Amino acid sequence: MFKEPIIVIHGGAGNIPDNRDQPKFDGMLTAIRKAHSVYTDTLSIIDTCQAAVESMEDNEAFNAGRGSVLNLKGEIEMEALIMEGKNMNAGSVTGVRNIAHPIALARKVMDNTPHVFLMGQSANEFATKMKFETVSDDYLMTDAAKIALENFLKMGGSPVTTEIGHGGVGTVGAIGMNVDGHMISCTSTGGITGKMAGRVGDTPVPGAGGYCDNAVGTVSTTGHGDSIMRYCLAQRIMTNLEQGVEPNLAVQNECEKLSTRIGGSAGAIAISKEGTIGIGFSSEKMAWAYLEKGMIHYGIKKGQHFTIGL
Ligand code: ASP
Repeated sequence: MFKEPIIVIHGGAGNIPDNRDQPKFDGMLTAIRKAHSVYTDTLSIIDTCQAAVESMEDNEAFNAGRGSVLNLKGEIEMEALIMEGKNMNAGSVTGVRNIAHPIALARKVMDNTPHVFLMGQSANEFATKMKFETVSDDYLMTDAAKIALENFLKMGGSPVTTEIGHGGVGTVGAIGMNVDGHMISCTSTGGITGKMAGRVGDTPVPGAGGYCDNAVGTVSTTGHGDSIMRYCLAQRIMTNLEQGVEPNLAVQNECEKLSTRIGGSAGAIAISKEGTIGIGFSSEKMAWAYLEKGMIHYGIKKGQHFTIGL
């Protein structure tokens, strides 16, 4: 038995312009407070992590749900993964459109189908069957995302880094552990600006965008998805945790190794089965926050660590 639940979130890694720091801080504080109230009401760590992600999906400071970045055709195709550590159940969606909460759809895939992963139009048909409301492109598509794509095209861009000043939003993730040591991983994204239509990133792929096993720990990643997928970043962090590597070191080392071996940059959050938190990134910045003893801890730049009361 642990004394209190652990909740850790991230709001994306990359070269985030400074004027985006505060909106991300505000969005993460809101998400942590929402998560805390859901945990108090339900004692469900899965509902808690999902609520934190949904809160950030609603907030255009992040690249998930409303605020998602645009593909080369100027469209939004979203992805999400949810995983629980008791029996390694997982649900994923990719290429979904016109819903507010892809993480909620991933949860439905996990809870209401015999499968792990649904894609594109069929995922949307499943959303309709599950009575998800449709939201318009206008709701999901922000000016920042449109400008980001324009800039990307003007610069003859190639989508190898995230948050390259192209809108400065970021993928979101929430991981948690309840007092019994049961763990959850949730991650949701719009992908990367200027991705090809149909591109699948790391986020919905177990072992890349996230992983969760009560016998080891839980992880959610962010950053350049094509690199993260090739490196199996979440799984490599899990292997470190299994070997007893201190979680901060495990996360930081593996993100740096990804950058050295593959290029691209990444960040991740983790909790070990002992309840120790790990936060690290090889990108210039990563927005992160966690709740401990009634205080919210948060930061975005290397070495930055603020605290504020719940
Ligand atoms: N990993 C995401 C992707 O490449 C982007 C991000 O984390 O910001 O799809």
